[in-house]
This record gives sequence, structure tokens and C-alpha cells, in this order.
Amino acid sequence: MRTAKWYMCVFLVAFLYFYVMLIKQVRGAEVPPRPLLPAEGRQAPAYEPPQFDPQFQDGETDSVGFSYHNYDQMTAYMRKVAAERPDITALYSIGTSVQGRELWVLVVSASPYEHMIGKPNVKYVGNIHGNEAIGREVLIHLIEVSCRSGSLPPYTAMRTAKWYMCVFLVAFLYFYVMLIKQVRGAEVPPRPLLPAEGRQAPAYEPPQFDPQFQDGETDSVGFSYHNYDQLTAYMRKVAAERPDITALYSIGTSVQGRELWVLVVSASPYEHMIGKPNVKYVGNIHGNEAIGREVLIHLIEYLTTRYNTDPYVRWLLDNTRVHIMPSMNPDGFEVSREGSCQGGQGRFNSNGFDLNRNFPDYFKTNNKKSQVETEAIKEWLNKIQFVLSAQLHGGALVASYPFDNTPNADDGNSVRDSPVPQRTGRAWYDPLVQPVWNALGEPIRVIRQFRTTESRSPDDDTLRHLAKVYSYNHGQMYKGEPCANKGLGAERFPDGITNGAKWYPLTGGMGDYNYVWHGCMELTLELSCCKYPEARQLRSFWRDNRKALVKLLGEAHRGVRGYVVDINNNPIEGAGLKVKGRNIGFQTTQHGEFWRILRPGNYVMEVFAEGYYPREQAFSVSEERPTEISILLERVPEVNRHDFTPPPLAPPPPTAAPSGLSGLWTRLTGGFQSLFG
Ligand SMILES: [Zn+2]
Repeated sequence: MRTAKWYMCVFLVAFLYFYVMLIKQVRGAEVPPRPLLPAEGRQAPAYEPPQFDPQFQDGETDSVGFSYHNYDQMTAYMRKVAAERPDITALYSIGTSVQGRELWVLVVSASPYEHMIGKPNVKYVGNIHGNEAIGREVLIHLIEVSCRSGSLPPYTAMRTAKWYMCVFLVAFLYFYVMLIKQVRGAEVPPRPLLPAEGRQAPAYEPPQFDPQFQDGETDSVGFSYHNYDQLTAYMRKVAAERPDITALYSIGTSVQGRELWVLVVSASPYEHMIGKPNVKYVGNIHGNEAIGREVLIHLIEYLTTRYNTDPYVRWLLDNTRVHIMPSMNPDGFEVSREGSCQGGQGRFNSNGFDLNRNFPDYFKTNNKKSQVETEAIKEWLNKIQFVLSAQLHGGALVASYPFDNTPNADDGNSVRDSPVPQRTGRAWYDPLVQPVWNALGEPIRVIRQFRTTESRSPDDDTLRHLAKVYSYNHGQMYKGEPCANKGLGAERFPDGITNGAKWYPLTGGMGDYNYVWHGCMELTLELSCCKYPEARQLRSFWRDNRKALVKLLGEAHRGVRGYVVDINNNPIEGAGLKVKGRNIGFQTTQHGEFWRILRPGNYVMEVFAEGYYPREQAFSVSEERPTEISILLERVPEVNRHDFTPPPLAPPPPTAAPSGLSGLWTRLTGGFQSLFG
């Protein structure tokens, strides 16, 4: 580079560095909005014990030792305390010294991670003059006596009424904070402005698209089924042990109040990095289909234990945010029975609804009452734009892809579900209905084969490819062998894949909903002929699925990605995009990002945004790496608006779009007419 460019570059990097530091400083000072308390008005929690100045009690701190702590020893001590007492401590660093040592701070408080409204902050700073050592050591002993000696001052007994009040306030604040976390969880940092050459995502490392998969064992997690408590404990343990690459959150609760846990596994677990695609796996949507739930637990173990040693896993987690939900129907799982291969006990949520028939449907009106689990998923998809996804089932061995429903045939839903009452009492369900279910399975399958037709989506080539990535990396699936059972799995599937509606059409499925309303390519993976096989078979199921599970996630990096920006390089949120010739749209995120999985070839992207001239941009996709494009839209000047004819609007979808997304439909041309042609 010429000298002038170097100076410019150094200046920009320095500017960005200080800018980011400034943002961090400011953000660090942010506090949650002040909660509105009940009718009495705004109150800080009452002081307990009631007197202002409880008696100080002496306490020994021999455990920390009476010797000086050098930097490494002090660091180790601070980390140990923070790990042992996360309930009352939080460790952070405000920066580094000239020689790069951290300027450690330990918060010691009943609310270490958050500023509670009304609670004052105080601080001690030791060792400002490096050779004045007593302050450094007495502060370490102060930490020890506060956190680890177990001699906290005794509280005087509170009166009962105050206890209730206190418990209520704590519970209220807890849920309020959880709510804020839910909402804030979707927040992402503002998009950084990069130097003049243009906006670029970091280069892929390793550079090749598809490094080799390496087998790995996950015995540490055990090959037995995990019930809700065991699953919760496992997810919490992983999140606590690997905060660098995991983050645990819940998208809501089931009807019976169980958390719908999701573990993010990624090199940036807590934040969406601009340009990095989000992908997800959802297991156990039918509570009695248990293999998906367990292989996802093993997938978590596989990814988290191999990040530091396996180049493929490192590449995947460095460049992708993987969200794993082992169970979408935890209530159903709790009443399901190990060894029960067919039938429906535990399939439904605890209100008796089939969650994979509970979503808005593009082709047919879905009148089923929306369930809390379904609402949680819809809210989740509104917050995070997923690029690629799969839902995991049992009862067959096949990778199925959208569309799952069709405008052409009768609703196959009634055929499949007819032997099962919508609401079931668990006590009498099995003995009465199970034989009917089994007896009807074969005739239903035979009848159905004559009446189902393929329901091809505009991205049929992409979806078939994704389904084959799964089936051919699976130990058995690609063979397409029929299951020995008499249900829907007793069919031969060429390549181990099928169009969903060709297999059997269903209304209200989660797959079509992801694809049509959220631009997310979702597969329905049927992983086992037996829905809930005995635990001794779990190891072989994991071995059959592990490579396929890992390889499918990498497909999020195939195709095209980029940004839609205005002439000032500002991102345009909610711009509508469509690959020309494929009449289905998707939208940019709030940072102007988009992703679309495509097979190698030449394409044209059509882009529309309100107030801008529409734009078409040609691009090509290669096998080796994703194509990155930046699409610049030019504003329509106010004075010329009357000269400009906006593109024809798409027809509204046949069923109501979820609120907040209806704009998608008005922004796109084309639409779905061609689907019916
Ligand atoms: Zn299922």
C-alpha cells in the first residue's frame, strides 16, 4: 500500500478501537428500566434486619493464607471465589495494565451480576502504588471473610408478613429480570462500520468450506434417557463449565411449567455477530419420539468437548451460532414409556394437542387452538432469523423436506390422526386405542399411497440437497429401507429422503411455517423406526446420526449471504428479497443481513424496500465457499415519488400472517400464484 493509505488505515483502526471501548464503557453502565411495583407505589425492598447497623462479627480467614499473592496467585484466587460463589460474586476486569495484566474487580453482593435499583455501589481499590502491599492483601482477606468463611452476620428473625412481602418482591424481581433477559437476549450490537474497502465478514478458518468430519465418542454423558430434571441438570452443567462457547436460555415454558431449554453452542454464544448465521435443532416435538432428544444431548457433548481439538468443530462453532433444543414437548416425554415403539401416549402436549399440527398453515386454515409451546417457538423465530433448521422425530427412517402440505389433495391430517382422539385421558388411552391404531396402520398406508402427490417448493433443489446431506452422512438412512412396523415408516424412500406432502400431507406443521414465514430451510428428520427404543440401543443411534447432525449444520455456509444497504452504507432492515424464478421471499435482519442456501449456479437476487428503487443483482454460487454480496438501494426522491410505479404487490397469504410480519407480503412482487399453476 502507499504510505498515505497506511496512515489512513492505522487511523481508522485506532478510531474503531476507541469507539468500541467507549461503547463498552457506556453499555457497562446500563441498568434495567426501573420496575413498576404494585399499587403502594415505587419502593426499594425494605431493609432487613430492621436496624440500620447490625453488629459486626469477627471472622477468621486463615483459609486464604497469610502470605503475599503475586499476580498469578491473585488471579487464581479471584477466579476460584467467582466459580465457587456465583450467587454472591462476579468477576470482571476493567482493562489491562501497561504490561497486559488484568485490572481485576470482584463484585460481592446478593445481586452480583446486576445493579438492583436503589442499591448503592461502593468500592475499594488497593495497591495503586505497587510497592504498598498491605491494601492488596487485606482486600483479599475481606473477600475471603465475606464469601467463603461462612460467618455472615446472623439476621434477626423477620416477622411473617415481612417474609411474605420479601418473597413476593424477590419473585417479582426475578421474573422481571428473566423477562428483560428474554427481550435483551435478542439484542445485537450495532453493526460496525468497516474501512473504505467495504464491509466484510471475517475470513473463514480453516479456509476450505468442508473440512473432514472426525468421529468422536461422547461416553461422558452416558447412554441412558434423560428425564426433564436430568436434562436440565446437564444443560446447566455444560453452560457453567463452558461459558466461553455455550449459553443456556429458555424460550418459555410448557403447559405444565417445564422450561423449553435451548443451549447455544458457538464461539460467540452470548451475542449475534453480524454476518454469522444462526441454525437450530429442535427435538422431541412429539413427546414419545425420544431418539432426537438424546442425540441432541450427545451432540452438545460432542461439540463442546471437541472445540479445542477438532478442526471441523472449531470451524463450525467459530462461524456459526448453533441453537439446540433437545425437547419442545417436555410434558409429553414425562408420560411416555421406554420400549413403546408405536402409538401415541406422550405424543401430544399436556392439553392433548399435536404440536406439529399447531402452526399457521400456508395452504389450509388451521383452527387448532395455539398452544404455549407453539407460541414460544413463534416468538423465538421472530427474535432470531434462522438460516437452517431440523426438527427430530421417530417412527420412520427418512429425511423429509417442505412442503409438508399441499393445495391439491384432501387434508391427509384426518387420515393420519383419525384413530387418535384429539384429547386423551392417559389412563384409558393405550389399551383401547393402541390396537385400533395398529390395525389401521397398514390399510391407511395402502390407501394413502394412491392419493398423495408431491408438493414441490420453489427451493426444491436446495431442500433435496440438504435432505441428502443428512441421509448420506447417516449410518443407514440413505439405503431407504422400509421400517418393519406397520405405520407410516413402512415405505421405501429412494436415497432416504422424501417430499413431506408426498409422504403424507399435514396441516399446521412447523417445517412449512419456518420455510414460508421465516425464510428458514427446515427438514423433518425421522431417526428411528421405533419411537422410544430401549436405552441399550442409544449408542448405535448416536453413532448412526452424529456425522449427519454435524455435517448438516455446515450447510448453512452454502449459497449466498450479504447485506442490503443504502448509499450511506447504512443497513436496511426488513428489505424483501427473492431469488429470481423462486417465488418465495425472505427478509433482511435489523442489520441488513441476509442468507440463502443455494446450489452452485448463476442467480439473480431481486430486492425491494419501501422508499427505495427496486434492484436486481446477479451473482454466482460456487461449491467451495459462500458468495458474499452487498446490495445497494437508492432512495426514491420525494419529488419523484409520483413518477415511480412501485412493484406489484403480492396477494395476502390464505391464512393470516403472524402480526409484525405482514409487511413481508406487501413488500414482495410475484407471490405464490405460480405454486398453484
Ligand atoms: Zn413425530
